[in-house]
Amino acid sequence: MKEYIVAGNWKSNKSYLDAKGYVVKLNDYPPLDVKTILAVPAIYADTLFQLSKQKNVAIALQNASSYDDGAYTGEISAKMIASLAIPYCIVGHSERRKLLGETDEQIADKIDQLYLHKITPILCIGETMEERNTGETFNIIRRQLLKGVRSLISDSSFPIIIAYEPIWAIGTGITATEEQAGEVHEFIFQILSEVLGKEKAETIPLLYGGSCNEKNAEALFRQKHIWGGLIGGASLELDSFYNIMRIAAKCNA
Ligand code: PEP
Repeated sequence: MKEYIVAGNWKSNKSYLDAKGYVVKLNDYPPLDVKTILAVPAIYADTLFQLSKQKNVAIALQNASSYDDGAYTGEISAKMIASLAIPYCIVGHSERRKLLGETDEQIADKIDQLYLHKITPILCIGETMEERNTGETFNIIRRQLLKGVRSLISDSSFPIIIAYEPIWAIGTGITATEEQAGEVHEFIFQILSEVLGKEKAETIPLLYGGSCNEKNAEALFRQKHIWGGLIGGASLELDSFYNIMRIAAKCNA
């Protein structure tokens, strides 16, 4: 049974005051029956975690270190995240893969660190426009996915959320069509079924991300293997994010 999830990714946006104002305002909105995750800048995470009283809303981080605690200046370890009781963390976002050169191997190491500290990773995977145009989409998805779930292959009790985010759709205003997104989600489900078994695959939430907004969310969310969205730009403004939460709650009903 699908249980819809709406995850917002604020990236490196918002002042401390704006971030607090958003969460305080959300506390007063009518609660919705949909699991909601807000991936906020790490520096605000604890304050927002303490402030957030809205039912079904969890605070998440956008990245974690691939190392444990130690001499890694500037890194935020999974152990630190766990010490704040933050339950989710994005890993492998395409902006980090591209701008910071994160590799599939490092991303898999980050996931292992998160598992050590009982944090659920939200693994982002997706192809560039050039890869799509040269027919490489499925190869890229398979490679990123298999590396990302490597630890689940030996222990399928670990949790994971997977976000398919075609890079050409992120922050561009160009959304994948329902058919394009649905096709890749179907493929992800097939790969997960092959390596983890169908029963486990059916429990793994698969989110779509890439210029998803209140206008296109419902058609995407109604696709068979789409369980909701990872929302960047449209999560920055509370009312548009709340409208997407509403759509997911309607799909849940
Ligand atoms: C993202 O950054 O994960 C994302 C999906 O961004 P946007 O919704 O702005 O395309």
